[in-house]
Amino acid sequence: MDFRLTEEQEMIRKMCHEFTDDVIMPRAEQMDKTGEYPYDIIEQMAELGLMGIPFPEEYGGSGGDWVSMHLAIEEISRGDCTLGALLDVTTSVVAQELYVFSTEEQKKKWLIPIAKGEAIGAFGLTEPDAGSDAGATKTTAALDGDEWVINGTKQFITNIGLDNASLVIITARCRRSEDGKDIINTFIVPKGTSGFTLGKRYDKMGWMSSATNECIFENCRIPRDYLLGEEGRGLAQHLAVLDTGRISVGAVSVGLAQACLEAALSYAQQRYQFGKPIYSYQGVSFKIADMAMNIELARNIYLKAAWLKDNNLPHTLESSYAKLFASEMAERVASDALQIHGGYGYMNEYPVSRYYKGAKLLQIVEGTSEIQRLVISRNLLNNG
Ligand SMILES: Cc1cc2nc3c(=O)[nH]c(=O)nc-3n(C[C@H](O)[C@H](O)[C@H](O)COP(=O)(O)OP(=O)(O)OC[C@H]3O[C@@H](n4cnc5c(N)ncnc54)[C@H](O)[C@@H]3O)c2cc1C
Repeated sequence: MDFRLTEEQEMIRKMCHEFTDDVIMPRAEQMDKTGEYPYDIIEQMAELGLMGIPFPEEYGGSGGDWVSMHLAIEEISRGDCTLGALLDVTTSVVAQELYVFSTEEQKKKWLIPIAKGEAIGAFGLTEPDAGSDAGATKTTAALDGDEWVINGTKQFITNIGLDNASLVIITARCRRSEDGKDIINTFIVPKGTSGFTLGKRYDKMGWMSSATNECIFENCRIPRDYLLGEEGRGLAQHLAVLDTGRISVGAVSVGLAQACLEAALSYAQQRYQFGKPIYSYQGVSFKIADMAMNIELARNIYLKAAWLKDNNLPHTLESSYAKLFASEMAERVASDALQIHGGYGYMNEYPVSRYYKGAKLLQIVEGTSEIQRLVISRNLLNNG
Protein backbone atom coordinates (compact mmCIF):
# COMPACT_ATOMS: atom_id res chain seq x y z
CA MET A 1 0.00 0.00 0.00
CA ASP A 2 1.40 3.38 -1.03
CA PHE A 3 0.14 6.41 0.90
CA ARG A 4 2.22 8.92 -1.06
CA LEU A 5 0.43 11.40 -3.30
CA THR A 6 1.33 11.35 -6.99
CA GLU A 7 3.32 14.26 -8.36
CA GLU A 8 0.18 15.75 -9.89
CA GLN A 9 -1.85 15.38 -6.69
CA GLU A 10 0.95 17.00 -4.69
CA MET A 11 1.17 19.83 -7.21
CA ILE A 12 -2.58 20.59 -6.91
CA ARG A 13 -2.38 20.43 -3.13
CA LYS A 14 0.56 22.84 -3.05
CA MET A 15 -1.02 25.22 -5.55
CA CYS A 16 -4.24 25.39 -3.50
CA HIS A 17 -2.28 25.75 -0.25
CA GLU A 18 -0.44 28.78 -1.59
CA PHE A 19 -3.58 30.24 -3.16
CA THR A 20 -5.34 29.94 0.20
CA ASP A 21 -2.49 31.63 2.07
CA ASP A 22 -2.11 34.44 -0.47
CA VAL A 23 -5.68 35.12 -1.60
CA ILE A 24 -8.31 33.59 0.70
CA MET A 25 -6.84 33.93 4.21
CA PRO A 26 -6.44 37.72 3.99
CA ARG A 27 -10.08 38.12 2.88
CA ALA A 28 -11.92 35.51 4.94
CA GLU A 29 -12.69 37.65 7.97
CA GLN A 30 -14.07 40.51 5.88
CA MET A 31 -16.15 38.12 3.77
CA ASP A 32 -17.71 36.70 6.90
CA LYS A 33 -18.35 40.13 8.39
CA THR A 34 -19.94 41.68 5.31
CA GLY A 35 -21.53 38.56 3.79
CA GLU A 36 -20.14 39.57 0.42
CA TYR A 37 -19.92 36.90 -2.27
CA PRO A 38 -16.25 36.81 -3.29
CA TYR A 39 -16.71 36.76 -7.08
CA ASP A 40 -13.10 37.71 -7.76
CA ILE A 41 -11.83 34.75 -5.72
CA ILE A 42 -14.31 32.40 -7.39
CA GLU A 43 -13.05 33.64 -10.76
CA GLN A 44 -9.45 32.94 -9.77
CA MET A 45 -10.42 29.46 -8.57
CA ALA A 46 -11.98 28.87 -11.99
CA GLU A 47 -8.82 30.11 -13.72
CA LEU A 48 -6.82 27.59 -11.69
CA GLY A 49 -9.15 24.89 -13.07
CA LEU A 50 -10.46 23.85 -9.65
CA MET A 51 -14.11 23.42 -10.70
CA GLY A 52 -13.30 20.78 -13.29
CA ILE A 53 -10.43 18.76 -11.82
CA PRO A 54 -12.03 15.28 -12.11
CA PHE A 55 -13.64 15.63 -15.56
CA PRO A 56 -12.13 14.92 -18.98
CA GLU A 57 -10.82 17.88 -20.97
CA GLU A 58 -13.49 17.41 -23.64
CA TYR A 59 -16.07 18.33 -21.00
CA GLY A 60 -14.22 21.37 -19.70
CA GLY A 61 -12.25 19.57 -17.00
CA SER A 62 -8.57 18.94 -16.49
CA GLY A 63 -8.58 15.12 -16.52
CA GLY A 64 -7.49 14.77 -12.90
CA ASP A 65 -8.92 12.52 -10.20
CA TRP A 66 -11.18 12.74 -7.17
CA VAL A 67 -8.27 12.52 -4.74
CA SER A 68 -6.88 15.74 -6.26
CA MET A 69 -10.31 17.35 -6.17
CA HIS A 70 -10.63 16.64 -2.48
CA LEU A 71 -7.12 17.80 -1.66
CA ALA A 72 -8.12 21.07 -3.35
CA ILE A 73 -11.34 21.25 -1.32
CA GLU A 74 -9.43 20.66 1.92
CA GLU A 75 -6.86 23.34 1.17
CA ILE A 76 -9.43 25.94 0.06
CA SER A 77 -11.55 25.22 3.16
CA ARG A 78 -8.54 25.87 5.38
CA GLY A 79 -8.93 29.48 4.24
CA ASP A 80 -12.71 29.62 4.08
CA CYS A 81 -15.12 26.72 4.36
CA THR A 82 -17.82 28.46 2.30
CA LEU A 83 -15.53 28.37 -0.75
CA GLY A 84 -14.86 24.68 -0.08
CA ALA A 85 -18.62 24.14 0.09
CA LEU A 86 -19.08 26.02 -3.19
CA LEU A 87 -16.67 23.55 -4.82
CA ASP A 88 -18.42 20.61 -3.19
CA VAL A 89 -21.82 21.61 -4.58
CA THR A 90 -20.85 22.83 -8.03
CA THR A 91 -18.25 20.14 -8.83
CA SER A 92 -18.64 17.05 -6.64
CA VAL A 93 -22.42 17.08 -6.78
CA VAL A 94 -23.87 19.07 -9.70
CA ALA A 95 -21.16 18.69 -12.35
CA GLN A 96 -20.82 15.04 -11.44
CA GLU A 97 -24.56 14.42 -11.74
CA LEU A 98 -24.44 16.03 -15.20
CA TYR A 99 -21.31 14.07 -16.14
CA VAL A 100 -22.74 10.71 -15.11
CA PHE A 101 -26.40 11.04 -16.06
CA SER A 102 -26.84 13.65 -18.79
CA THR A 103 -27.05 13.20 -22.55
CA GLU A 104 -24.21 14.33 -24.79
CA GLU A 105 -26.19 17.41 -25.77
CA GLN A 106 -26.90 18.29 -22.13
CA LYS A 107 -23.22 17.84 -21.28
CA LYS A 108 -22.21 20.33 -23.96
CA LYS A 109 -24.81 22.84 -22.86
CA TRP A 110 -24.64 22.57 -19.08
CA LEU A 111 -21.62 20.59 -17.89
CA ILE A 112 -18.85 22.30 -19.84
CA PRO A 113 -19.47 25.85 -18.51
CA ILE A 114 -19.73 24.50 -14.94
CA ALA A 115 -16.58 22.36 -15.22
CA LYS A 116 -14.74 25.39 -16.59
CA GLY A 117 -16.02 27.49 -13.71
CA GLU A 118 -17.72 29.95 -16.07
CA ALA A 119 -21.02 29.04 -14.41
CA ILE A 120 -21.86 27.66 -10.97
CA GLY A 121 -24.30 24.84 -10.28
CA ALA A 122 -26.82 24.31 -7.47
CA PHE A 123 -28.45 21.16 -6.12
CA GLY A 124 -32.07 21.19 -5.01
CA LEU A 125 -33.23 18.31 -2.86
CA THR A 126 -34.39 19.77 0.46
CA GLU A 127 -37.93 21.09 0.86
CA PRO A 128 -39.83 22.50 3.83
CA ASP A 129 -41.35 19.04 4.55
CA ALA A 130 -38.64 16.87 2.99
CA GLY A 131 -35.24 17.17 4.66
CA SER A 132 -33.64 13.95 5.87
CA ASP A 133 -36.63 12.17 4.31
CA ALA A 134 -35.70 13.39 0.83
CA GLY A 135 -38.15 11.02 -0.87
CA ALA A 136 -41.06 12.94 0.67
CA THR A 137 -40.64 15.65 -1.97
CA LYS A 138 -43.84 17.60 -2.69
CA THR A 139 -42.53 19.50 -5.70
CA THR A 140 -44.34 18.24 -8.78
CA ALA A 141 -43.57 18.12 -12.48
CA ALA A 142 -46.29 17.35 -15.03
CA LEU A 143 -45.88 16.93 -18.77
CA ASP A 144 -47.90 19.38 -20.84
CA GLY A 145 -47.17 18.81 -24.51
CA ASP A 146 -43.42 19.18 -24.93
CA GLU A 147 -42.88 20.92 -21.60
CA TRP A 148 -42.65 19.98 -17.96
CA VAL A 149 -44.60 22.25 -15.63
CA ILE A 150 -42.98 22.47 -12.21
CA ASN A 151 -44.60 23.61 -8.96
CA GLY A 152 -43.12 23.59 -5.48
CA THR A 153 -40.38 24.95 -3.24
CA LYS A 154 -36.83 23.86 -2.51
CA GLN A 155 -35.24 25.35 0.56
CA PHE A 156 -31.72 26.07 1.89
CA ILE A 157 -30.19 25.86 -1.59
CA THR A 158 -26.48 26.64 -1.77
CA ASN A 159 -24.94 28.61 -4.68
CA ILE A 160 -28.16 29.45 -6.55
CA GLY A 161 -28.08 33.03 -5.23
CA LEU A 162 -24.74 33.72 -6.93
CA ASP A 163 -24.99 35.97 -10.01
CA ASN A 164 -23.09 33.39 -12.07
CA ALA A 165 -25.23 30.39 -10.99
CA SER A 166 -26.61 28.86 -14.17
CA LEU A 167 -29.00 26.18 -12.95
CA VAL A 168 -30.38 24.06 -10.18
CA ILE A 169 -30.90 20.32 -10.52
CA ILE A 170 -34.05 19.40 -8.65
CA THR A 171 -36.09 16.34 -7.82
CA ALA A 172 -39.82 16.44 -8.49
CA ARG A 173 -42.68 14.03 -8.17
CA CYS A 174 -44.36 12.98 -11.42
CA ARG A 175 -47.53 11.02 -12.01
CA ARG A 176 -46.93 7.94 -14.09
CA SER A 177 -49.95 7.28 -16.26
CA GLU A 178 -49.50 3.50 -16.71
CA ASP A 179 -49.95 2.37 -13.10
CA GLY A 180 -51.04 5.63 -11.46
CA LYS A 181 -48.08 5.56 -9.07
CA ASP A 182 -45.83 8.57 -8.51
CA ILE A 183 -42.19 8.51 -9.54
CA ILE A 184 -39.42 10.96 -8.79
CA ASN A 185 -37.42 12.48 -11.65
CA THR A 186 -34.56 14.97 -11.72
CA PHE A 187 -34.71 18.10 -13.86
CA ILE A 188 -32.31 20.78 -14.98
CA VAL A 189 -33.91 24.15 -14.27
CA PRO A 190 -31.93 27.08 -15.65
CA LYS A 191 -31.84 30.21 -13.54
CA GLY A 192 -33.95 32.89 -15.15
CA THR A 193 -36.64 30.49 -16.40
CA SER A 194 -40.05 32.12 -16.16
CA GLY A 195 -41.87 30.85 -13.06
CA PHE A 196 -38.62 30.12 -11.19
CA THR A 197 -37.84 32.78 -8.58
CA LEU A 198 -35.48 32.96 -5.67
CA GLY A 199 -36.86 33.45 -2.21
CA LYS A 200 -35.10 35.25 0.55
CA ARG A 201 -31.39 35.00 1.22
CA TYR A 202 -31.33 33.22 4.56
CA ASP A 203 -30.03 35.02 7.62
CA LYS A 204 -27.63 32.38 8.96
CA MET A 205 -25.54 31.87 12.10
CA GLY A 206 -22.33 31.35 10.08
CA TRP A 207 -21.17 30.67 6.50
CA MET A 208 -22.11 34.29 5.83
CA SER A 209 -20.51 34.49 2.39
CA SER A 210 -22.15 31.29 1.15
CA ALA A 211 -25.24 31.96 -0.93
CA THR A 212 -28.25 30.11 0.53
CA ASN A 213 -31.70 30.78 -0.93
CA GLU A 214 -35.12 29.33 -1.35
CA CYS A 215 -36.12 28.27 -4.91
CA ILE A 216 -39.78 28.80 -5.78
CA PHE A 217 -41.40 27.17 -8.81
CA GLU A 218 -44.80 28.47 -9.89
CA ASN A 219 -45.98 26.95 -13.15
CA CYS A 220 -42.37 26.97 -14.20
CA ARG A 221 -42.10 25.51 -17.73
CA ILE A 222 -38.99 23.79 -19.01
CA PRO A 223 -38.52 21.84 -22.26
CA ARG A 224 -39.22 18.10 -22.14
CA ASP A 225 -35.54 17.29 -22.72
CA TYR A 226 -34.43 19.05 -19.52
CA LEU A 227 -35.26 15.80 -17.74
CA LEU A 228 -31.92 14.53 -16.38
CA GLY A 229 -31.19 10.83 -16.62
CA GLU A 230 -33.64 8.00 -16.48
CA GLU A 231 -37.34 8.42 -15.67
CA GLY A 232 -38.13 7.13 -12.21
CA ARG A 233 -34.46 7.06 -11.15
CA GLY A 234 -34.27 10.71 -10.10
CA LEU A 235 -33.98 10.22 -6.35
CA ALA A 236 -31.48 7.37 -6.75
CA GLN A 237 -29.34 9.58 -9.04
CA HIS A 238 -29.46 12.50 -6.63
CA LEU A 239 -28.55 10.27 -3.68
CA ALA A 240 -25.76 8.53 -5.64
CA VAL A 241 -23.89 11.78 -6.21
CA LEU A 242 -24.29 12.64 -2.54
CA ASP A 243 -21.84 9.78 -1.86
CA THR A 244 -19.20 12.05 -3.39
CA GLY A 245 -20.65 15.15 -1.76
CA ARG A 246 -20.13 13.46 1.58
CA ILE A 247 -16.44 12.86 0.86
CA SER A 248 -16.29 16.56 0.02
CA VAL A 249 -17.92 17.60 3.30
CA GLY A 250 -15.26 15.40 4.95
CA ALA A 251 -12.55 17.36 3.13
CA VAL A 252 -14.16 20.72 4.03
CA SER A 253 -14.24 19.58 7.67
CA VAL A 254 -10.56 18.61 7.62
CA GLY A 255 -9.63 21.96 6.05
CA LEU A 256 -11.55 23.88 8.69
CA ALA A 257 -10.09 21.75 11.50
CA GLN A 258 -6.57 22.24 10.13
CA ALA A 259 -7.09 26.01 10.31
CA CYS A 260 -8.20 25.58 13.96
CA LEU A 261 -5.10 23.52 14.74
CA GLU A 262 -2.78 26.10 13.19
CA ALA A 263 -4.49 28.95 15.09
CA ALA A 264 -4.40 27.06 18.41
CA LEU A 265 -0.78 25.95 18.03
CA SER A 266 0.37 29.47 17.26
CA TYR A 267 -1.69 31.11 20.03
CA ALA A 268 -0.65 28.58 22.68
CA GLN A 269 3.02 29.36 22.08
CA GLN A 270 2.50 33.13 22.25
CA ARG A 271 0.10 33.38 25.17
CA TYR A 272 1.82 33.48 28.57
CA GLN A 273 0.06 32.68 31.84
CA PHE A 274 1.74 31.90 35.16
CA GLY A 275 5.01 33.02 33.54
CA LYS A 276 5.03 30.37 30.80
CA PRO A 277 3.53 29.86 27.35
CA ILE A 278 0.25 28.00 27.84
CA TYR A 279 1.56 25.31 25.45
CA SER A 280 3.87 24.21 28.26
CA TYR A 281 0.80 23.01 30.21
CA GLN A 282 -0.30 19.54 29.25
CA GLY A 283 -3.92 20.55 29.66
CA VAL A 284 -3.36 22.64 26.54
CA SER A 285 -0.70 20.75 24.57
CA PHE A 286 -2.50 17.39 24.92
CA LYS A 287 -5.65 19.00 23.49
CA ILE A 288 -3.58 20.12 20.53
CA ALA A 289 -2.00 16.66 20.17
CA ASP A 290 -5.50 15.14 20.03
CA MET A 291 -6.56 17.70 17.43
CA ALA A 292 -3.62 16.84 15.17
CA MET A 293 -4.23 13.09 15.50
CA ASN A 294 -7.96 13.33 14.78
CA ILE A 295 -7.43 15.61 11.80
CA GLU A 296 -5.01 13.10 10.31
CA LEU A 297 -7.45 10.23 10.87
CA ALA A 298 -10.24 12.20 9.19
CA ARG A 299 -7.93 13.10 6.30
CA ASN A 300 -7.07 9.42 5.84
CA ILE A 301 -10.70 8.33 5.61
CA TYR A 302 -11.77 11.02 3.13
CA LEU A 303 -8.73 10.22 0.98
CA LYS A 304 -9.52 6.52 1.14
CA ALA A 305 -13.12 7.18 0.06
CA ALA A 306 -11.89 9.38 -2.82
CA TRP A 307 -9.35 6.73 -3.82
CA LEU A 308 -12.08 4.05 -3.85
CA LYS A 309 -14.16 6.30 -6.09
CA ASP A 310 -11.23 6.87 -8.44
CA ASN A 311 -10.83 3.11 -8.67
CA ASN A 312 -14.53 2.50 -9.32
CA LEU A 313 -14.90 0.58 -6.09
CA PRO A 314 -17.92 0.78 -3.75
CA HIS A 315 -17.52 3.70 -1.36
CA THR A 316 -20.93 4.50 0.15
CA LEU A 317 -19.83 3.29 3.58
CA GLU A 318 -16.47 5.08 3.49
CA SER A 319 -18.15 8.30 2.27
CA SER A 320 -20.46 8.21 5.27
CA TYR A 321 -17.55 7.41 7.61
CA ALA A 322 -15.65 10.37 6.15
CA LYS A 323 -18.59 12.77 6.45
CA LEU A 324 -19.58 11.67 9.95
CA PHE A 325 -16.13 11.33 11.49
CA ALA A 326 -14.67 14.47 9.92
CA SER A 327 -17.63 16.76 10.64
CA GLU A 328 -17.92 15.65 14.28
CA MET A 329 -14.14 15.93 14.62
CA ALA A 330 -14.22 19.47 13.16
CA GLU A 331 -16.81 20.64 15.66
CA ARG A 332 -14.76 19.24 18.58
CA VAL A 333 -11.52 20.67 17.25
CA ALA A 334 -13.11 24.10 16.67
CA SER A 335 -14.47 24.07 20.22
CA ASP A 336 -11.06 23.11 21.67
CA ALA A 337 -9.28 25.73 19.57
CA LEU A 338 -11.65 28.38 20.88
CA GLN A 339 -11.16 27.14 24.44
CA ILE A 340 -7.39 27.44 24.05
CA HIS A 341 -7.86 31.09 23.02
CA GLY A 342 -9.80 31.74 26.26
CA GLY A 343 -11.90 34.92 26.21
CA TYR A 344 -10.10 36.20 23.12
CA GLY A 345 -11.44 33.22 21.21
CA TYR A 346 -14.97 34.46 21.75
CA MET A 347 -14.10 37.79 20.10
CA ASN A 348 -14.89 38.08 16.42
CA GLU A 349 -11.44 39.48 15.67
CA TYR A 350 -10.01 35.99 16.21
CA PRO A 351 -10.79 33.54 13.40
CA VAL A 352 -11.55 30.68 15.81
CA SER A 353 -14.99 32.17 16.56
CA ARG A 354 -15.79 31.98 12.82
CA TYR A 355 -14.45 28.42 12.63
CA TYR A 356 -16.59 27.41 15.59
CA LYS A 357 -19.78 28.75 13.98
CA GLY A 358 -18.83 27.21 10.65
CA ALA A 359 -18.11 23.74 12.02
CA LYS A 360 -21.65 23.13 13.30
CA LEU A 361 -23.18 23.19 9.83
CA LEU A 362 -20.92 20.40 8.63
CA GLN A 363 -22.88 17.98 10.83
CA ILE A 364 -26.12 18.97 9.12
CA VAL A 365 -25.61 19.42 5.37
CA GLU A 366 -25.72 16.53 2.89
CA GLY A 367 -27.21 14.20 5.46
CA THR A 368 -27.06 14.89 9.19
CA SER A 369 -24.83 12.89 11.54
CA GLU A 370 -27.88 10.81 12.45
CA ILE A 371 -28.57 10.02 8.79
CA GLN A 372 -24.92 8.99 8.30
CA ARG A 373 -25.32 6.56 11.21
CA LEU A 374 -28.45 5.25 9.51
CA VAL A 375 -26.57 4.74 6.22
CA ILE A 376 -23.68 3.03 8.04
CA SER A 377 -25.85 0.74 10.15
CA ARG A 378 -27.94 -0.29 7.12
CA ASN A 379 -24.81 -0.99 5.09
CA LEU A 380 -23.41 -3.15 7.87
CA LEU A 381 -26.53 -5.34 7.64
CA ASN A 382 -26.45 -5.45 3.83
CA ASN A 383 -22.77 -6.44 3.85
CA GLY A 384 -23.49 -9.30 6.22
C1 LIG B 1 -26.68 26.50 5.09
C2 LIG B 1 -27.34 25.29 4.50
C3 LIG B 1 -27.07 24.94 3.18
C4 LIG B 1 -27.73 23.86 2.59
N1 LIG B 1 -27.53 23.58 1.26
C5 LIG B 1 -28.35 22.67 0.65
C6 LIG B 1 -28.32 22.49 -0.78
O1 LIG B 1 -27.53 23.10 -1.49
N2 LIG B 1 -29.21 21.62 -1.34
C7 LIG B 1 -30.11 20.91 -0.60
O2 LIG B 1 -30.88 20.14 -1.17
N3 LIG B 1 -30.14 21.04 0.76
C8 LIG B 1 -29.30 21.91 1.39
N4 LIG B 1 -29.35 22.06 2.76
C9 LIG B 1 -30.31 21.27 3.52
C10 LIG B 1 -29.68 20.19 4.39
O3 LIG B 1 -29.14 19.17 3.61
C11 LIG B 1 -30.77 19.74 5.36
O4 LIG B 1 -30.96 20.79 6.28
C12 LIG B 1 -30.45 18.44 6.07
O5 LIG B 1 -30.44 17.38 5.16
C13 LIG B 1 -31.43 18.12 7.21
O6 LIG B 1 -32.75 18.28 6.81
P1 LIG B 1 -33.73 19.17 7.72
O7 LIG B 1 -33.06 20.48 7.95
O8 LIG B 1 -35.06 19.19 7.08
O9 LIG B 1 -33.78 18.42 9.10
P2 LIG B 1 -34.77 17.20 9.50
O10 LIG B 1 -34.72 16.15 8.47
O11 LIG B 1 -36.09 17.75 9.87
O12 LIG B 1 -34.05 16.65 10.79
C14 LIG B 1 -34.22 17.24 12.08
C15 LIG B 1 -33.47 16.36 13.08
O13 LIG B 1 -34.04 15.05 13.10
C16 LIG B 1 -33.05 14.07 12.85
N5 LIG B 1 -33.62 12.96 12.10
C17 LIG B 1 -34.42 13.01 11.00
N6 LIG B 1 -34.74 11.78 10.60
C18 LIG B 1 -34.12 10.91 11.45
C19 LIG B 1 -34.04 9.49 11.55
N7 LIG B 1 -34.67 8.69 10.68
N8 LIG B 1 -33.30 8.97 12.55
C20 LIG B 1 -32.66 9.76 13.43
N9 LIG B 1 -32.68 11.11 13.38
C21 LIG B 1 -33.40 11.67 12.40
C22 LIG B 1 -31.99 14.82 12.02
O14 LIG B 1 -30.74 14.15 12.07
C23 LIG B 1 -31.99 16.16 12.69
O15 LIG B 1 -31.19 16.13 13.84
C24 LIG B 1 -28.65 23.10 3.37
C25 LIG B 1 -28.86 23.42 4.72
C26 LIG B 1 -28.25 24.50 5.28
C27 LIG B 1 -28.54 24.84 6.72
